[in-house]
Amino acid sequence: MSFSQFQPIAAIATTPQALQTLHPLCQRLNAILWIPDTLAPLPGTQVYSGSLSEHIAQLWSSHRALIFGLALGAVVRLIAPLLQHKSSDPAVLVVDQNGKFVISVSGGHQAGADQLTRLLALQLNATPIITGAANGLKLPAVDLLGVRFGWGRGQGDWTAVSAAMARGEQIKVIQEAGSNLWQKGLPQGHSFDLTPSTETAENTPRIYISCLNKLASHTPQVQWFPRVLWVGVGCERFTPRSLIETAIEQVLEQYNLGENAIAGIATLDIKADEPGLVELCQDKNWPLRTFGPEVLREIEVPNPSQVVSAEVGTPSVAEAAALQAAGVKQLLVSKQIYRALPSESGPNRIGQAVTVAIAEAEQEYIGRTGELFLVGTGPGALDQITPAAQTAIVQADVVIGYSLYLDLIRPLLHGGQIIESYPITQERQRAERAIDLAQWGLTVAVVSSGDCGIYGMAGLVFEQLRTRGWDGKTPGVRVFPGISALQSAASRVGAPLMHDFCAISLSDLLTPWEVIEKRLTAAAQGDFICILYNPRSRTRTEQLHTAKRIFLQARSGNTPVAIVRSAYRPDEEIKLTTLEQFNPDAVDMLTTVLIGNQSTGIYQNWMITPRGYLGFIAENTD
Ligand code: SAH
Repeated sequence: MSFSQFQPIAAIATTPQALQTLHPLCQRLNAILWIPDTLAPLPGTQVYSGSLSEHIAQLWSSHRALIFGLALGAVVRLIAPLLQHKSSDPAVLVVDQNGKFVISVSGGHQAGADQLTRLLALQLNATPIITGAANGLKLPAVDLLGVRFGWGRGQGDWTAVSAAMARGEQIKVIQEAGSNLWQKGLPQGHSFDLTPSTETAENTPRIYISCLNKLASHTPQVQWFPRVLWVGVGCERFTPRSLIETAIEQVLEQYNLGENAIAGIATLDIKADEPGLVELCQDKNWPLRTFGPEVLREIEVPNPSQVVSAEVGTPSVAEAAALQAAGVKQLLVSKQIYRALPSESGPNRIGQAVTVAIAEAEQEYIGRTGELFLVGTGPGALDQITPAAQTAIVQADVVIGYSLYLDLIRPLLHGGQIIESYPITQERQRAERAIDLAQWGLTVAVVSSGDCGIYGMAGLVFEQLRTRGWDGKTPGVRVFPGISALQSAASRVGAPLMHDFCAISLSDLLTPWEVIEKRLTAAAQGDFICILYNPRSRTRTEQLHTAKRIFLQARSGNTPVAIVRSAYRPDEEIKLTTLEQFNPDAVDMLTTVLIGNQSTGIYQNWMITPRGYLGFIAENTD
């Protein structure tokens, strides 16, 4: 798992015990572990000499996160003189000597200390200690609300609005742009007033989400800027960067638009290497989208120009490019021409001009590459999910899954994550939705019970990506395995899978029944131990009867059969029976059926298959 968003990370241990705890962690995190010269170094550790407070002062501004294996009180004293502002201080965490607790000390939101605390706690199997109010309320923090969507943080009294939220006071949200996905998954009884009406008491704290500068008056207010504005720019060759910048600033000011709301710049393809434009975009972290004249000339614009058309082959650059980049039909700001003052233009270029037009996209530009995590969450209990899968779920912006499985992993989810639960049948919609969100720039975890690649969502997502012409890289995909029902069911009854086995799903929704029947027959004849998934549903009742008949033709009626329902869940039920006795009508969709091979036996209520066949001496029994 990469911790790139927190890098560079430094850690400090001052006792042998803290060193033992932090050393393996730092290797996984790719963090430098600093120790005093009184401790024996370990591979990868670095030694500091002299005063610890001076050393911390050196690390402070060059690191995004500091992890202390030190008493909390000592850490408070050490960092007190260094703390400046939560928008610039690094994340500070404390791990106790035995690695039982990870504490988010400061920089919880903007520096990401709370999130890093969650992730480290998973790495150490420790308890995360996060004391921020938003975390306790399972609400998105006011100052993190738009981070997932790439929104720019504006001005405002962030502390006052956060404090009001912590007190449970009503917060008026006035959202005019950007995604309202963050509103999904807010817990019941949250105190955000999301109604469109603007009639709210004068002094109600407010969050504005808009591309317009909104802050006014005296009530505590804050503002987020979704990056929805595509600025079309037309300029002559070698127009100085400062001139382009001033032209954009002027237009923004005139229309009361926030610079933080700029998604990027759009222009004609021959401007892709325009030095001033390229430099400005790099500095501001704006993408530069360029379009050929054959694209731009097709776009209807309010102010076409014959002169421009004769020169570059399209009657509009700024207006057409803004519309094309934003994917809309109407401009927010039509063409504005900014002429340089003589002092602003380069040598011999008096009268130079920049044209600017702005279009507002419906969906904001996130500015990150999305990722898809295909996660298996095991049979149901939280401790049966691998730490890697838990980490993936905690890291995700969006978690998508079948409602039953999402309920089972609820304790892992935190405020500010977007949770989309779907009914069991809508697997394809789930896959499509996950890909859409990842292509947009979000990190999306698609959860399946058991293993996601065994009758789970992984295959559907890959299939769908392939249909969309995916290049194999963007969005990135990572698959996190989980304990499949064949393993969890087997573990509850003993060791029935000690020899060759077959997993067969009896669901004929996606596979023709003749194929399933053929496989059942082959597995039965081949003396494979058999695990039947999806054995029966409310409407699919005959298949399991047929399976039983097929197995009885090839195996003795005494063959042990295990019926495991909801393994590792609160409503778990387990029954051992025989092929003859087993009643297919007593089985449901939450059940896995295990059919032994000819040497499987029952001993003291355990179902055991010998490692080899009778008469053979087992050599490889590990
Ligand atoms: N991806 C899942 C399988 C999904 S198909 C996995 O790898 O386990 C759904 C079927 O899985 C159910 O019909 C049932 O047969 C089986 N199943 C899933 N979870 C189970 C559990 N906790 N106990 C018993 N069977 C389970």
